[in-house]
Amino acid sequence: MSNILERVNNLLKLPQHLCNMCGNCCRMATFKGGLSYEEVLELANSKDEDESQVVGAKDFLAIFQPYVSSEEAKKIAPEFTESVYEIFGKDSKVGFFHCKFLGKMGEKYGCLIHEDRPQLCRMYPIPHERTFYFPECGFKEQGRKNWEEIKNIISSLEEKRDHLQSKAKAEEEKE
Ligand code: SF4
Ligand code: SF4
Repeated sequence: MSNILERVNNLLKLPQHLCNMCGNCCRMATFKGGLSYEEVLELANSKDEDESQVVGAKDFLAIFQPYVSSEEAKKIAPEFTESVYEIFGKDSKVGFFHCKFLGKMGEKYGCLIHEDRPQLCRMYPIPHERTFYFPECGFKEQGRKNWEEIKNIISSLEEKRDHLQSKAKAEEEKE
């Protein structure tokens, strides 16, 4: 079992050299669960919620700020906003954000705090079926491949669990 957990952990961490520094994910992001800016703010200021959720919301707002409107976000990354609305529904109040630390570096835009960028950025993107990859994202192929393998591991564990449960039930009925 520990080998399986180690494998899944490794699959969740994509090699950082795959990033081609296009900056698209710094220009456009959402908070998990499709929360609006007001909801993320409320979560960050709450005391009773799950501690890890509160910390996650605080970390997120330390670097990301909301676009003035969803229309503005749609103009900047139409594919991204469309895929987000497909998940959360056209009428959802999902917030779109951009990073405060994305700035001009010579002719290009880049991360102004690259060496000290937060853990959140170092871990991005985490392979999952809901992870959106920008068309140019260097993680796209590997991220999707890793998620397929994680899904297969989960299915085979579920099969083993079902098999053990029916075996135990059959033995119980025999007694
Ligand atoms: S801190 Fe840097 S790497 Fe992280 S989102 Fe902002 S610009 Fe991107
Ligand atoms: S979209 Fe992908 S390749 Fe581009 S900066 Fe973000 S993680 Fe790197």
